[in-house]
Amino acid sequence: MRKPVIAGNWKLYKTRDEALALIEELAPLVTGVSNVEIVVAPVFTVLPTLPAALAGTGISLAAQDVFWEEEGAYTGEVSPRMLLDAGASHVIIGHSERRQYFGETEETVNKKVKASLKGALVPIVCVGETLDAREAGETFNVLERQIKGALAGLTETQFAPVIIAYEPVWAIGTGKVASDEQAQEAHAFIRGVVAGLLGKSAAEKVRILYGGSVKPENVKGLMSCNDIDGALVGGASLKGASFASIVRFGE
Ligand code: PEP
Repeated sequence: MRKPVIAGNWKLYKTRDEALALIEELAPLVTGVSNVEIVVAPVFTVLPTLPAALAGTGISLAAQDVFWEEEGAYTGEVSPRMLLDAGASHVIIGHSERRQYFGETEETVNKKVKASLKGALVPIVCVGETLDAREAGETFNVLERQIKGALAGLTETQFAPVIIAYEPVWAIGTGKVASDEQAQEAHAFIRGVVAGLLGKSAAEKVRILYGGSVKPENVKGLMSCNDIDGALVGGASLKGASFASIVRFGE
């Protein structure tokens, strides 16, 4: 019932030419895949370069961040309307690197989620605990706070397009993937928090992606878990062959 999403977060990698070369490598490897939604998220400057190359491939385009105002005196920011204009349909919000290095808070995540939905962009909202929080037994408290913060004030209808990504911070870029059991437990908990906030039907429909050192070798196990509906992939999305083999996890 929940169509899987495999999204590639290219982080601060790939110039326009490099991005085009990656799409040229990736597109033929995912031709004919219709049972998985595929998304790639390059840096802002690359966004307008990709729509022509992505046409007919079934691959959607995401930005890695967004600002909540439509326009104004906000030097350095990019609004939902501008992302749409650049060809994006999705946007990653609240990635742990933004929370860690750029002062992203529950409040700014919430503003960005609301502005994106208003601007017809699909938010991919990231949550996840640090290693310290996990070791202190705080994982569920952190996840509950982050989910409630991100979704504050949304109705069930407004929430419908939202995708959630559970990304334990200790697993991002470290090669240390959460076990299938750890990931499933966190996903089921997140779905429960969504049910409490927005009802059972919203919770059953929302796609919850796992992120953190997803590779072709571990994606199958993760995707076999009941509450895992896809993956947000960093490092392994930078090569066409590895990303394609993650997209084709079911084959
Ligand atoms: C990410 O950037 O969201 C991520 C999960 O990175 P990696 O797959 O490299 O751990």
